[in-house]
Amino acid sequence: MITAVKGTQDLLFPEVRRWQQLEAAARGLFERYGFGEIRTPLLEPTELFVRGIGDETDIVAKEMYTFQDRKGRSLTLRPENTAGVARAVVEHRLHDSPQHARLYYIGPQFRYERPQKGRYRQFHQMGIEILGEGAPGADAEGIAVAVDLLDAAGIPAATVQLNSVGCAECRPPYVALLKASLAPRVSELCGDCRRRLETNPLRTLDCKVPSCQPVLDAAPRLDEGLCAACADHHRAVREILDLLRISYRVRPRMVRGLDYYVRTVFEVTSEALGAQDALVGGGRYDGLLRALGGPDAAGFGWALGMERLLMAMPPLPGERLPRVYLAWSGAGTYARVLLLARELRAMGVAVLVEHQERSFKSALKRADRLNARWALLVGEEELESELYTLKDLASGGQQALAAADVAARVREEAP
Ligand code: AMP
Repeated sequence: MITAVKGTQDLLFPEVRRWQQLEAAARGLFERYGFGEIRTPLLEPTELFVRGIGDETDIVAKEMYTFQDRKGRSLTLRPENTAGVARAVVEHRLHDSPQHARLYYIGPQFRYERPQKGRYRQFHQMGIEILGEGAPGADAEGIAVAVDLLDAAGIPAATVQLNSVGCAECRPPYVALLKASLAPRVSELCGDCRRRLETNPLRTLDCKVPSCQPVLDAAPRLDEGLCAACADHHRAVREILDLLRISYRVRPRMVRGLDYYVRTVFEVTSEALGAQDALVGGGRYDGLLRALGGPDAAGFGWALGMERLLMAMPPLPGERLPRVYLAWSGAGTYARVLLLARELRAMGVAVLVEHQERSFKSALKRADRLNARWALLVGEEELESELYTLKDLASGGQQALAAADVAARVREEAP
């Protein structure tokens, strides 16, 4: 037996319905905030992620699905979507077009991580990118979109965790301070942290190893090292969140796993999830477009993990098309049934046709197993009168109806 690749999943019916519902709710919300969809390729040049995400990040250093194609080019299955969107924006000069300043995406991402509950190798993200808006209002509004989406999905106990990681001006002095403060306690840090202290000291703050926590908790706060402009920005973001009545917790040592962030970083976590409690992660990435050969344009965005959201999401009241199972018996009936099925579908009814002649008793059994809501029975008598027997499989009641009335009756139950 050939099985799915480790860390990937088949999405089966009816679970896939919840995905569709989430996607539909998100699309509606994104459009109400003025976002338009962008779909970028799953495959990108490896260089894009090395430049866009940073080669010292876990994603680029350890987690990418990278391979050479037949011409020896290094390609990578996208581990996240912001770099791809930024590439597309630069490539198509979308930054010159206000119409393309707000983009959203929904799709699979790939990371070679140890699979566990809430962590997969192929997972799905939906996210937004706001381009060319440097004002703190864009950060707050972007966070509001995430909060509204979680509200719409009915996620309990979601908390916004907020911080500022400063900018090219104030981060280097902070990093120097961080290094100096960690240096005397280096023996208490894990091997990864010791390495990061040399290569990318800020990333030590992201370490989850329990024995490192007391040392990291004593590290200097990022918000105390901000330059005046970053401090003002951070304050304004908080004020606008207050105005929008979005509650948040400032986590002064929170950093994010991607190098391109400046100023605002945030996560949304939910207590409804276990160890992998981060539902949404994002922040401001002014400078990313320039790093990819584009203009010096501001950017803000986030990504939400769909598997994790669905784990925390209560079942939604489901949209369900009425399903009619169409069975027949008698000579000449089958041809009429095939046409009748098309007529009913054109009237918005979901119809399954039985392709073999069966006794009505055996047809009803099959309808039941197929979880149909109705059975429509066509025998020679029905063919003659053009009144078909519609059987309600829940109550057992039945009526003789013309095709249009069948459609009207079953559609009464549709949303
Ligand atoms: P990131 O792109 O790392 O900022 O992640 C954004 C969100 O994507 C996280 O908060 C998770 O909800 C989700 N996510 C990240 N990695 C995985 C994974 N391997 N499996 C499932 N969800 C993930």
